[in-house]
Amino acid sequence: MKITTLGAHNCESQNTRLTTLLVDDIIAIDAGSLTSSLSFPAQLRLKAILLTHQHYDHIRDVPTIAFNFAMAWSTLNVYSTIHVYQALSLILGNKLYPNFLEFPQENPSLNFNLIEPYQAVQIEGYDVLALPVSHSVPTVGYQVTSPEGKTVFYTGDTGPGLEDCWQRISPQLLITEVSAPDRFQELYQRRRHFTPNLLREELSSFRELKGYLPQVVVVHMNPELEEEIRAELAAVAQALGHAITPAHEGMQITL
Ligand SMILES: [Zn+2]
Ligand SMILES: [Zn+2]
Repeated sequence: MKITTLGAHNCESQNTRLTTLLVDDIIAIDAGSLTSSLSFPAQLRLKAILLTHQHYDHIRDVPTIAFNFAMAWSTLNVYSTIHVYQALSLILGNKLYPNFLEFPQENPSLNFNLIEPYQAVQIEGYDVLALPVSHSVPTVGYQVTSPEGKTVFYTGDTGPGLEDCWQRISPQLLITEVSAPDRFQELYQRRRHFTPNLLREELSSFRELKGYLPQVVVVHMNPELEEEIRAELAAVAQALGHAITPAHEGMQITL
């Protein structure tokens, strides 16, 4: 299983892209930087997009990739919860952009598939399990298991309180978020995001419950505060005796 972090940040600029993961070049998780990161042929190789939640930085490239699929007369499967479907329907409601859920009429470029939390499904040969996490709007993390049995869990945006989630998963790789350094902990805890210290507590609870820690990769960093975040993550890694890798755009992880 090959995972590429197309976007590793929560702010976009010339050098930083919004959070998006790519699994084996065919399944995207979140769509903050799909069209901005991938060539046309690479976009058309995509079979499915899993969306964690409706926040704009995670769904932004759904309309733009839908347009490209329409041009290629192809269909892309999108998977998420009813909340994300309702939010996407606002953008794809013919007012801001064509409704690619129904257009082109003979062959709509998006096919939306409803995901129910806690119910495992098969997507393109991968086992996918959506689990609620703790964010300011309804959000699910995804556990994706490849046909070879390699497993990644991506939390999406989340704050503390993932014990229930940890009980239900056994990933080799955990991709999660840290949005700001610890001096913003109070604010970011309220906004339901991690700081390095909050991540440390959740990883400790993971290890207590499961008896191990997976490989840990961090995305959704604020680029302006990244140096501070990286330094604090290094301290957390040392305290836990376990490596934590801050991601960057185009980073590849092989399981
Ligand atoms: Zn969010
Ligand atoms: Zn976000």
